[in-house]
Amino acid sequence: MTFVIPPPAPPSVEVVGTDELFPVHRVYCVGRNYAAHAREMGMDPEREPPFFFSKPADAVVSNGTPVPYPPRTTNLHHEIELVVAIGIGGRDIPLANALAHVFGYAVGNDLTRRDLQFSAREQGRPWDVAKGFDGSAPVSAIRPAAEMGHVERGTIWLEVNGEPRQRANLSDMIWSVPEIVAELSTYFELRPGDLIFTGTPEGVGPVRRGDSLVGGIDGLETLRTTIV
Ligand code: MN
Repeated sequence: MTFVIPPPAPPSVEVVGTDELFPVHRVYCVGRNYAAHAREMGMDPEREPPFFFSKPADAVVSNGTPVPYPPRTTNLHHEIELVVAIGIGGRDIPLANALAHVFGYAVGNDLTRRDLQFSAREQGRPWDVAKGFDGSAPVSAIRPAAEMGHVERGTIWLEVNGEPRQRANLSDMIWSVPEIVAELSTYFELRPGDLIFTGTPEGVGPVRRGDSLVGGIDGLETLRTTIV
């Protein structure tokens, strides 16, 4: 098979302990999965459960890669998140079996053009331009669950230029990892290579050109991103 134009290289993420790459199929995201973050966004987590949106697979950038400040925004925000990497696909995955579909875990930053997100929200429009821009999904190397086990709790944090911005515990997530996998698989057939950003805790805020973002989760590789 040949192509009329050269096909793009498949997006991928590094894997801890090997030179082999994890091929990215789709990038799903959970919105408002921490109650304190839902409140800081002006929403009531008691009345509105978390939900899903997505980013393009080629929005993924590897750990340490500088991210250009995107156009058409004056309010770019960080959102540090646990990322789940799917190794075995499925649809209507039972909750009790959900973790068997997880290949591993990484640290991600759901970069967001907050001004565009708020205007889309007010006008009832899609979030794509707010969430799915080029370079909007920095991800650390994935640690395989076979090596480290599954991630249920632990500190999640982010600093900008050494100043603490976000700090919470994964146990504060409204939907746990198995619940996210089971629920998402009722909307989409999950495929090997899917990444799921599981939502950010409170403390999101703006970043500027030149800022150094460092974020982590207990047991996972620290994610370092410079905005240029
Ligand atoms: Mn997010």
